[in-house]
Amino acid sequence: MTQLPQTTVDDFKSAFRGNLLLPGDGDYEEVRQIWNAMIDRKPGLIARCKSPEEVAQVVKLARKHNMLVSVRGGGHNIAGNAVCDDGLMIDLSLMKGVQVDTNARRATVEPGCTLGDFDKAAQAHGLATPLGINSTTGVAGLTLGGGFGWLSRKYGMTIDNLLSADVVTADGAQVRASETENADLFWGLRGGGGNFGIVTRFEFQLHPVGPNVLSGLIVFPFDQAKSVITQFARFTETMPEDLNVWMVTRKAPPLPFLPADVHGKEMVALALFYAGDPAEGQKLIEPLRGFGTPLGEHIGVQPYTDWQQAFDPLLAKGARNYWKSHNFSSLSEGVIDAIIEYAAKLPSPHCEIFIGTIGGQTTGVAPEAMAYSSRDANYVMNVHGRWESAAEDERCIAWAREFFAKSQPFASPGAYINFLTQEESDRIAFAYGPTYKRMVELKKKYDPTNFFRMNQNIKPD
Ligand SMILES: Cc1cc2nc3c(=O)[nH]c(=O)nc-3n(C[C@H](O)[C@H](O)[C@H](O)COP(=O)(O)OP(=O)(O)OC[C@H]3O[C@@H](n4cnc5c(N)ncnc54)[C@H](O)[C@@H]3O)c2cc1C
Repeated sequence: MTQLPQTTVDDFKSAFRGNLLLPGDGDYEEVRQIWNAMIDRKPGLIARCKSPEEVAQVVKLARKHNMLVSVRGGGHNIAGNAVCDDGLMIDLSLMKGVQVDTNARRATVEPGCTLGDFDKAAQAHGLATPLGINSTTGVAGLTLGGGFGWLSRKYGMTIDNLLSADVVTADGAQVRASETENADLFWGLRGGGGNFGIVTRFEFQLHPVGPNVLSGLIVFPFDQAKSVITQFARFTETMPEDLNVWMVTRKAPPLPFLPADVHGKEMVALALFYAGDPAEGQKLIEPLRGFGTPLGEHIGVQPYTDWQQAFDPLLAKGARNYWKSHNFSSLSEGVIDAIIEYAAKLPSPHCEIFIGTIGGQTTGVAPEAMAYSSRDANYVMNVHGRWESAAEDERCIAWAREFFAKSQPFASPGAYINFLTQEESDRIAFAYGPTYKRMVELKKKYDPTNFFRMNQNIKPD
């Protein structure tokens, strides 16, 4: 790695009030590591901020020294933009406050919170907002890219529930963005990733959820995949917004409710969640069991926060990951056949193809109302390449790329920016579609020098 000039380091040391880490310092190795083990970058400095004022201060110092800057929220992003080589990593993971206003059903959330931190605080009052399905993901990155999960069919994307944000802009100013203050910036934050500034506080609308919800898994044999996935595709087109069902095909993990001889074999699983009265949900999910002859099921009424952590063991930090993603407005026979073809040749026991169902309230917003524009996406598909050793890189990446190409003809326009890898900068304009041009204009206004460029970058020219 290139060493930073001593004058830069000295200036930070004397001026920055927060916690500064240099290579060789105690926590440096741990803090620079992110979720995706494919990314191994070494920043010259890490500034661990504890307040918006400290964030503003490091932004000004980084500008003064003309440094490359990356911003870390939960550190989960597959592209690894939370960490840079040689430059400055602004680490927000110590900013973990969540405040819930139960009367107004609103929460303010600091940018180091994980989904688990936010869910726990809101569920203490029987409240929640739509977030993703893995509790260790950061609220910040998820929200800035759009955000969807089990509650999205009922309550929309995460950004549809964002009421305001406090932002440190590229010149180090602290501003608030909402529908009434800096409304153009607020438009851009809702999908624009980290392109327009560093969010130091999010304010969300909350909704009554649970605290106990009907949720779980039904697992089918892989030789029934065509019938099960086809019925899943038709069922999810008309199901009520309180219900959500996702499909995943992979090799079966050693789940206790599955017979031992199924472990390690390909299977198709339906993951289901009902946001309303569990007794009603039981009736609605009954047809799912008849999609084939289930190998097993694990369905029950459980705390919402438990369901939000149910997939954490399969998605733990430290593995090598390479993802590819398409949006679909509907699942045609062509894409179902492609899924089955590639699920039959999974290159590692951890690889999977999943279809996340959104639709419902996520489609009720005009495409140009916010930077995120994929309002016709009823399904988000992710080829989740995941494996353990570098020796498997080539094989697993090739599998993901081939399936991505094979399924492309059936995809709808747009892509989910939070699922793009580091090599997909050529897909950014496509991902945003009708809002891309306005984002370039906004970038020129809020970040004309492209100070914030470790992201799915909107270039200001
Ligand atoms: C296992 C797993 C499961 C997932 N499941 C879902 C899901 O169900 N639904 C879904 O919508 N997404 C899901 N995602 C995608 C997830 O939304 C993105 O990876 C998201 O970017 C993670 O946010 P983060 O804060 O953890 O990431 P980071 O890597 O810290 O940040 C991501 C990007 O945002 C920028 N950033 C972070 N914080 C700030 C801030 N405060 N201000 C400005 N810029 C900032 C970073 O610089 C970086 O460019 C999943 C990801 C993983 C790894």
